[in-house]
Amino acid sequence: SLQGKAALVTGSTSGIGLGIARALAQQGAHIVLNGFGAADEIKALQIALQKDFGITAIHHAADMSRPAEIAAMMQVAVEKFGAVDILVNNAGIQHVANIEDFPIDKWDAIIAINLSSAFHTTRLALPAMKEKNWGRIINIASAHGLVGSAQKSAYVAAKHGIVGFTKVTALETAQTGVTCNAICPGWVLTPLVQKQVDARAANEGISNDEAKKGLLSEKQPSGEFVTPEQLGALAVFLCSEAANQVRGAAWNMDGGWIAQ
Ligand code: NAD
Repeated sequence: SLQGKAALVTGSTSGIGLGIARALAQQGAHIVLNGFGAADEIKALQIALQKDFGITAIHHAADMSRPAEIAAMMQVAVEKFGAVDILVNNAGIQHVANIEDFPIDKWDAIIAINLSSAFHTTRLALPAMKEKNWGRIINIASAHGLVGSAQKSAYVAAKHGIVGFTKVTALETAQTGVTCNAICPGWVLTPLVQKQVDARAANEGISNDEAKKGLLSEKQPSGEFVTPEQLGALAVFLCSEAANQVRGAAWNMDGGWIAQ
């Protein structure tokens, strides 16, 4: 059980982050939600977490591309819950284009949100975790943290980067009760991927279902999407005592993507 612990999950108003936040709340952890969205919808997510799992959930809208906002969020979490015991670096965006056409501002935003934000949250969370001699840092990388795909230069660079950052964090905490690991999902049907499904359907003049099948058949041998609930269960395992010696791993849950 994670009773009494506090978990901060970046980018948790949608998709994988929300799935992980719900799974951690189910184990009794208090939750700091982060991410964008309509105020009333975020409020509803917060209330659902509290009602379903009897924990306290707050939301902080820090823009993960802005170090000062990240620092403010970390401080609010500590003021509210006393500590950030579990840190899940999940916020991320995608942009698809050839390198020579890749907008410079998109490159910078992807590196900032998908990679550098994890440095900022981690550097601020580590001192208290080390002091307590307990902590869990889980970085949501991707199959693209381990292999590349055309037209995803910034994303693949950021995700490979976060796998490297995970290893260094694990080494610097190796003799403590703090662990750091990466999870590398394959395709998960979230708004981030739905955009790519829509683009494929439009480009090829096919239906939404055909576009999903096409996307999966290219990369994911199982032919099925990974779900946020499955990823939540893996995060819960990584937070358990059984995972004390899982350190610096880049753990794929990808329907066989990187086995090829
Ligand atoms: P999503 O679009 O459903 O959710 C992204 C979340 O991040 C949202 O809550 C959004 O508000 C938040 N966010 C975006 N920019 C932000 C910013 N600047 N500051 C704060 N929050 C911000 O996407 P998802 O598919 O759930 O992706 C979550 C993570 O999982 C990302 O790091 C993504 O790269 C990774 N991932 C996704 C897939 C997939 O197939 N969906 C596969 C592998 C890895």
